[in-house]
Amino acid sequence: MKVIDILNNAEKTVFSFEIIPPLRGSSVETIYNAIEPLMDFNPPHINITYHRDEVEYRTDTDGTIKKIVTTKRPGSVALAAAIMKRFKVEVVPHLLCAGATKYELENDLIDLNFLGIENVFALRGDASKNAAQNVSQSAEAKIAEFKPEQGGHRYASELVEQIYALNNGQYLDTTLKDPAPTNFCTGVAGYPEKHYEAASIEVDIENLKRKIDAGAEYIVTQLFFDNSKFFDFVNRCRAAGITVPVIPGLKPISTAKHLELLPKTFSIDIPEDLIKEVQSASDVTAVRKIGVEWAVMQSKELIAAGAPAVHYYSMGKSDNIVEIAKRVF
Ligand code: FAD
Repeated sequence: MKVIDILNNAEKTVFSFEIIPPLRGSSVETIYNAIEPLMDFNPPHINITYHRDEVEYRTDTDGTIKKIVTTKRPGSVALAAAIMKRFKVEVVPHLLCAGATKYELENDLIDLNFLGIENVFALRGDASKNAAQNVSQSAEAKIAEFKPEQGGHRYASELVEQIYALNNGQYLDTTLKDPAPTNFCTGVAGYPEKHYEAASIEVDIENLKRKIDAGAEYIVTQLFFDNSKFFDFVNRCRAAGITVPVIPGLKPISTAKHLELLPKTFSIDIPEDLIKEVQSASDVTAVRKIGVEWAVMQSKELIAAGAPAVHYYSMGKSDNIVEIAKRVF
């Protein structure tokens, strides 16, 4: 079933979450073990993130330059199919413009279509980490300028257009005889605290609208810790003419390191109250408890305000999400 139909048919707020494919060399069981306890809360779909290849150029002793490509988390498409089969649940694989040509994206979409997967989440992705390291001392990919692959897309809206075209039987090769249309429902990302590259929230929402106008049917937001920022974002979307469901994305803090890491990685703010609570926690168990309490408080308020779904970033670990779901769903 398509996510948009799940949302439209739901009688109460939907519980959903996303998982990260295992690191190369890790067993798929690690992911199954993380998903298993969350199935008690009947998620109608599970998102599977996508991780771009890292490209590095190394100079050999003879002076020649070698291109080294590493995929740290391979197998996204196969993992989506494996999860769908094992848990009998809809899956929403993420697709990235970053590092991919339109042709490669079309191949992925064809694979997904053959597997009977009807949902995709269209994203641009970020610059490769190595590109970032070449720009500055920081390992943060996002400070490097995003460069589309040759023959690839510059913005997520262009990928949404490609999916929309494929849904209408328009493949890249226009000479195909009787091309079969696909039937994807596409979700896209939104940023209550603005995407880090956008000059203003207004400009960012104009660009978000391009994705909806291109055919995306719902939005999932970047994680946030202050619900007022989400409510303000939804109001701004509606004022800009965006009428599709906007799903809040939440991640519970689980270590004191998140106080620095999350704002830096996701360009978001953590409220002072939460920072103080975490800083005064005696140990990591206390930090996790604070993270869970905060996410429960956020979830309850979002549900009371009529959020169509609450989407949790599990980052491969599910015990704190289970704790939250028990108290909220
Ligand atoms: P876009 O929508 O293309 O926007 C990128 C920037 O370009 C924005 O600043 C926007 O305002 C601007 N822009 C857009 N269109 C135009 C235009 N026509 N002209 C000028 N400016 C424009 N990353 C991963 O690598 N893998 C994942 O699985 C993944 N999942 C995610 C899930 C969610 C819910 C979210 C919120 C993010 C996720 N990300 C993931 C991170 C995402 O890839 C980055 O945030 C990336 O920097 C932007 O992706 P986007 O799809 O929002 O890009």
